[in-house]
Amino acid sequence: MQAKSPAEAKAHQPKSDWTPGAWRSRPAEQLIDYPDPEALSRVERRLAGSEPLVEVADIIHLRAALARVANGEAIIMQGGDCAESFAEFDADKVRVTYNLLLRMGAIVRAAGSDVVHLARIAGQFAKPRSSPVETIGEVTLPSYRGDAVNGPAFTSLARVPDPKRLLDAHRQAQVTIELLQAYASASYADLPRVHREVGLKEPPRPISMFTSHEALLLNYEQALTRFDEASEQWWATSGHMLWIGDRTRQLDGAHVEFARGVGNPVGLKCGPSINADDFLRLMDRIDPDNLPGKLVLIGRFGADKVAEHLPELMRITCREGRKVIWSIDPMHGNTRTVEGLKTRMVGDIVKEVRTFFEIAEAEGVHGGGIHLEMTGSDVTECLGGSINLAREDLGRRYLTHCDPRLNEAQALDVAHAVAAMVAD
Ligand code: PEP
Ligand code: MN
Repeated sequence: MQAKSPAEAKAHQPKSDWTPGAWRSRPAEQLIDYPDPEALSRVERRLAGSEPLVEVADIIHLRAALARVANGEAIIMQGGDCAESFAEFDADKVRVTYNLLLRMGAIVRAAGSDVVHLARIAGQFAKPRSSPVETIGEVTLPSYRGDAVNGPAFTSLARVPDPKRLLDAHRQAQVTIELLQAYASASYADLPRVHREVGLKEPPRPISMFTSHEALLLNYEQALTRFDEASEQWWATSGHMLWIGDRTRQLDGAHVEFARGVGNPVGLKCGPSINADDFLRLMDRIDPDNLPGKLVLIGRFGADKVAEHLPELMRITCREGRKVIWSIDPMHGNTRTVEGLKTRMVGDIVKEVRTFFEIAEAEGVHGGGIHLEMTGSDVTECLGGSINLAREDLGRRYLTHCDPRLNEAQALDVAHAVAAMVAD
């Protein structure tokens, strides 16, 4: 399969009038104001001339795997850091995340459901922020927007957006994908152990690991979008699956305009503020042909709100005959502040997961997956779980630059909760 850069593909226009740059004429939330637009253009040209990070054939493979999820035959295990970091990157970190997702998947497979593994990695370098500024004491600075945009240090210099960071993010994504491929093609040495741990009798088989991130930085996404002649389609080659965040899902906004034109599976975060009308129109816009495996609706309401919002939305997808996947992100609706630190309770997370599967069953919908912020490292960012992490532990290894992540033991707790729901 031959992927062409946007410039090379000019002669082969696809059926629709969509172009990778069409988002530029739309209002955009969370846009980055670069002080040097020329430097940004140079970076965009460099990226546009680079090789695709992921193969179109593999994106198509994911689409097929997700069609099975839409059909009720598997569930998605999606997870990784809230934001990837340049400073905390090494091969071991990728291996540990890979291994954790595999173990979580094995727990769910042992309960009788097939699993699609989707790492939140190799592109998750930018964050939507609720406030454009951060104030500490008397000092107010622009917010940290993720390593692909500016630096986390609380200095005015670090917080200036630098387009060259997009190249660093791209390079790290490339290395990450190569590492994931190496682990997968070696059929990963730990696999027999993973299988023994959860009592699976069948022999281990190679497991594909797909990549995903929020499509927030549209300059980056556009530059990595390629036209593929065999499929006569545009594809985002920055990752296998992209999603649109809860803050950037405006119907006529730039992010929806970008996402609607690529062939990749697209996630849509659905929080408490989504209304039925927009919800319907977003589905029509992103997935006009109602293709199974194309659209993943990711609820993120909070343990106490999920029962108020989710049933109505699920009834709409049923009524409209939508072949979507319903998944749950039990992280972003359950953030709270304890002693000045953002945290989440494993109890709330598990409660939202359970409620999600219960509601899905009651509505006759397939509970199609979970989406977690987690790390294989031994962090102390979320409270509770089987290791019973307490308030006084919070500061001990609080390492995230952004949202609090489940550590390994806590992520496995959530996988066990999913397995219990799937087995019921
Ligand atoms: C995220 O997934 O990191 C995120 C910001 O989520 P949401 O858009 O659902 O708030
Ligand atoms: Mn987050």
